[in-house]
Amino acid sequence: MDCILCGKCLEVCPLLRATGREELGPRAKADLSALLRGDAVALDAEDVARLAGLCLGCRRCREKCPQGVDVPALVAGLRAEHPDFRAWLWKTWLKRARELWPSSGMAAKLIPEKFQPERLAPFLKALSLLRGGPHVRPFVAVEALPDLRGETVLLFSGCTARYVRKEWRRAAEKLLEAMNAGLHKDKFECCGMGLESAGFGPDAARMREKNIRAWRRAGKPRVVTLCVSCHKGLADYADGFEDAAEAGEWAEALTPISALLLDGRYMLTENAPARVGYHRPCHATGNDLDHALLASVLGERLPTPDGRECCGFGGIMQLGAPELCSQVNERCWQSLAGSETVITGCSACAAQLTATAPEGVRVGHWLEMFDL
Ligand code: SF4
Ligand code: SF4
Repeated sequence: MDCILCGKCLEVCPLLRATGREELGPRAKADLSALLRGDAVALDAEDVARLAGLCLGCRRCREKCPQGVDVPALVAGLRAEHPDFRAWLWKTWLKRARELWPSSGMAAKLIPEKFQPERLAPFLKALSLLRGGPHVRPFVAVEALPDLRGETVLLFSGCTARYVRKEWRRAAEKLLEAMNAGLHKDKFECCGMGLESAGFGPDAARMREKNIRAWRRAGKPRVVTLCVSCHKGLADYADGFEDAAEAGEWAEALTPISALLLDGRYMLTENAPARVGYHRPCHATGNDLDHALLASVLGERLPTPDGRECCGFGGIMQLGAPELCSQVNERCWQSLAGSETVITGCSACAAQLTATAPEGVRVGHWLEMFDL
């Protein structure tokens, strides 16, 4: 479907809202892609590559478009046609998560010195602070959980919880064990979403195939996710299945851990903060089950989240335009003002907010709030 320039997507683009620059918004990107399809030589390749870099990959515009125009996919296509050093770095970072992420300092070593100017600093800071910063102190006691006895589940913990913030994975495992679920070892790879958005479609497809195979080998059990973005990445798998019926089984199997926890009973401990800010990740589309769980556990301590602001992580954009990511991030913190504890359900948002938190603010995945 072609863009009809209706402008509906403009209301939701956090990059446009933070900068006020329409040339950075989704409509301009859809228009640019159409222009390139018509006459590829009309635009300078360098300008195209630069514009293709300027998208947070939040996918909000895609959800809003009445024409079904997928601007992030168009941007990924442009990125694939115009790869540069930043793309290489980002791809290396995602594909070698197992070796590189546990020691974020390695990222700096990867980057030749002449490419280490100030502009990479926020990105490297986000990586190095992923494990640091004042974490959330547990303040929720678990009184009862649903019983999954007799059911086998696979936990898709995602790269951050697998290699860096292992306590998130451990918390999810403990909760599933307490539900008496038969927990299979996580044999998954990265969901592939970051690679896909950066224009590395074939690499993302390989991850996708490996993940579907791991699920098939385990007997197609329920796949429990703890990161909203990983969940979105998995839910968007459109190929790699034997047939439509198997694709349906996969969609049915994907379960955010918050959906299971909604049936539990909890009690706040004495140290529970009076106010807890919730950052709604951009990839939490539709029914935000994380928020439903948190609202039921925290009640009035959880102010209604703004939900419109992006954390500004931006993936590969962080490498090309950290200053624009910062502008987006500032708005996000304005929307969270007054909360000394901020929780979210996306690994990338947690990394970005941890790295940029104002003095004294604790940031973490909401799984950290459970006293397990
Ligand atoms: S991308 Fe979709 S929502 Fe945005 S201007 Fe075009 S048709 Fe409208
Ligand atoms: S994916 Fe997000 S940042 Fe990129 S154009 Fe769409 S709404 Fe804007």
